[in-house]
Amino acid sequence: MRKIAILGATGSIGTQTLDIVRAQGDLQVTAMAAGHNIDLFETQIREFLPHLVSVWEEGDALDLKTRIADLNVKVVSGMDGLLAVACDPDSEILVTAVVGMIGLQPTVAAIQSGKNIALANKETLVTAGHLIMPMAKEYNVQILPVDSEHSAIFQALNGENSNKIDKILLTASGGPFRGKTREELSKVTLADALKHPNWSMGKKITVDSATLVNKGLEVMEAKWLFGVDLPQIQVVVQPQSVIHSMVQFVDGSIIAQLGTPDMRLPIQYALYYPKRKSLAGDRLDFAALTSITFEAPDTQTFRGLALAYEAMKSGGSMPTIYNAANEAAVALFLEEKISYLQITEIIEACMKSCTWIPAPKLTEILSTEAEVREWVAMKTDLHGSNYI
Ligand code: NDP
Ligand code: MG
Repeated sequence: MRKIAILGATGSIGTQTLDIVRAQGDLQVTAMAAGHNIDLFETQIREFLPHLVSVWEEGDALDLKTRIADLNVKVVSGMDGLLAVACDPDSEILVTAVVGMIGLQPTVAAIQSGKNIALANKETLVTAGHLIMPMAKEYNVQILPVDSEHSAIFQALNGENSNKIDKILLTASGGPFRGKTREELSKVTLADALKHPNWSMGKKITVDSATLVNKGLEVMEAKWLFGVDLPQIQVVVQPQSVIHSMVQFVDGSIIAQLGTPDMRLPIQYALYYPKRKSLAGDRLDFAALTSITFEAPDTQTFRGLALAYEAMKSGGSMPTIYNAANEAAVALFLEEKISYLQITEIIEACMKSCTWIPAPKLTEILSTEAEVREWVAMKTDLHGSNYI
């Protein structure tokens, strides 16, 4: 039995991780954490019987305790709860499937407890890649990518350890608004942004895909995971989402990973790495697939990607500012308090206004996040829906 702990069990990645646990039969969930969805969480606890669970609010934890009083399961809450689940002594691998920078501290704690990390929570590497990667080396733990593009690159690199990467070709679907003008984008709604053409995911990452901020975050994630320089990462729009990413080596050879858009594959690959296990589901049908097309990303129209490159070039705490501003802005967009185009306007304004720190420590990353959130909240209070 391979023992795993999951942060964000009730989300898109979390539930698909549990689908794999259910299908494989040789994985055991020892601990898991959720946010607020305690109805689904209770069902999951009854099915997978971990010995430790955590929810965000103390009130929810009390409610959950009463509900599962018949089970021998310890219930904890808050950041201490997330940390306890992340460091559960029984687990070998932690699946980080919470959304946002909330995943940072538990991931650090898990690495320091010697857990391998199946990393879905890209915000962790975006904000603290400079701390996480050396820490993983120091504690001799593996960071196993779950993000489909990074899993594709990781798979393409298998057996190539001593070979130099020339370039990473990070593919992007282009999102639901590919081909639209700024004028057209000024009228798109939340419902439009939540309609991703190929992938079914949580709301925050779906909006990130519509702004291309997700691709920006993934460029940063790739830089840290694979130790390449920024000019070595090229974003390629491949609207059918058939090629999940590619690696070009120094001899000009390009290795790609292809498949249907099914997140269970990269999740399962991370959980069993380096072993491949069978996975039920659709297969690519090359007879039905008429074409795979490519284009360059439109960084003029979609500022999310251009700003990510700027943030990376500035380095230090700028990626944290970029990420935290995006988290705050997307939360406002999901509440329909700001428009789609205001998301990247807010990111840009924060990048100009918030304090930049050259090589931030963990505490400084967290204080930068707090400063950005305060800045965004203050501006919203002042200006209401006419944000900037
Ligand atoms: P979801 O919104 O579907 O799920 C988020 C999970 O985090 C839920 O279980 C939620 O709990 C939990 N959560 C939120 N806030 C807290 C909190 N304060 N304390 C504890 N748990 C909390 O997100 P996704 O699954 O889509 O994404 C998760 C991560 O994976 C993100 O970083 C995303 O970028 C990344 N990722 C996702 C992909 C996908 O296909 N979905 C693909 C590649 C990367 P609850 O619902 O109970 O409130
Ligand atoms: Mg991805």
